Amino acid sequence: MKEPLLERFIKYAKIDTQAVPDKGKIPSSEGQLELANIVVQDLKEAGVVDIRMTEQGYVYGTIPSNIPAGHPAYGRVPTIGFVSHLDTAMECPGKNVKPQIIKKYGGEDIVLPGNPELILKVDEEPELKKCMGHTIITSDGTTLLGVDDKAGIAVIVEMAHYFKENPDKLHGKIRIGIMPDEELGIGAENLDLKEFGADFAYTLDGGGLGEIDIESFNGYKGKITVEGYAAFPGYGKGIYLNATKILSEFVSMMKEEMWPQNCDGRQGIWWVDAFNGGVANAELYVYLRDFELEGIKEKEKLLNEIKEKLLKKYPKAKIDINISETYKNYKYELDKDKRVVQYAEEAMKRIGIKPIHHSVRGGNDSCHLCFSGLLSTNLFVGMQRMHSLKEWCSLQVMEKAVETIISLVNVWTEKSL
Ligand SMILES: [Zn+2]
Repeated sequence: MKEPLLERFIKYAKIDTQAVPDKGKIPSSEGQLELANIVVQDLKEAGVVDIRMTEQGYVYGTIPSNIPAGHPAYGRVPTIGFVSHLDTAMECPGKNVKPQIIKKYGGEDIVLPGNPELILKVDEEPELKKCMGHTIITSDGTTLLGVDDKAGIAVIVEMAHYFKENPDKLHGKIRIGIMPDEELGIGAENLDLKEFGADFAYTLDGGGLGEIDIESFNGYKGKITVEGYAAFPGYGKGIYLNATKILSEFVSMMKEEMWPQNCDGRQGIWWVDAFNGGVANAELYVYLRDFELEGIKEKEKLLNEIKEKLLKKYPKAKIDINISETYKNYKYELDKDKRVVQYAEEAMKRIGIKPIHHSVRGGNDSCHLCFSGLLSTNLFVGMQRMHSLKEWCSLQVMEKAVETIISLVNVWTEKSL
């Protein structure tokens, strides 16, 4: 008997797979291997073949193409990969997860029983309002739920079961890749793309119903250094030049409306950190983020204008700004083959879901995969309030994610005819 999606998800959620920073090895926690072993078993039961689990906890598997020789699509359907991750976030505890299951949600605020002051308020959760009558899953409020990304794994296993139970539904080769330590930013980096062998991929690591991540920020990082002049302060008149003071003025001249606390949607941002200053020298890191390269250029221009103003005021100071790219918006890559996003949209529309374009205000795995040569984007699995004690999800949205990727496989097959 196939395990129901809810039970499968809860089974995964209960295993502590929290990532541990600076561990120096992959996976960074033993629990990830424990979960990987269970996933291997579950994939086997779901008819997945060529399953290989690596020492690091990567799990690869195949649903072979079932298109018969002689069929017009035979040999023409690209290999589609689906990717999710084993580890959970580090921001709050991940051990002893006790999921709370609320059936037939009626629109009320949800109290988290292990931490009753913590309440999911309908007013603060616009997505909750859309989930009337659903089965809502939360933690008990003392840990995260782990919906990021155990929902993604459960959705992929469920899809595999569907194709096992429906051998008449023709599809090309499907590859599955489950990775460790995504939260540490090293999961996708170490995914063996040659072994994975997908032509296009989708990560299942996204938010609300219908969301498709279509782009990420362009990320730039730079160092600003100021050289002043350290003279004996008591006799400093005319010569003493304090680098820390100049750099502080620099920061205060960076437009307030472009700081993270004031921006959302598609607005770009800048911020600084690691300010280090003495009298003679001061330095800090500056970060620029924008969906458009024009926006990055504009911010660099503004930084240079601040520099020029300060040099006028302090002609004897030296100010250097060195900025370089950290990552690029993966939209530039996806634009090379628009099918990745278009087919995902079509897959959703076919099952009555309205696709919602989502711009990721950071980098993500799709970003990494795209620039490593595997065009990919991220699809919803229903996770909400990720990385917090208030993580929650709707079972029905997770079910829609399963339907979406089945539909997506169908779209890729049909379009290859
Ligand atoms: Zn994730």
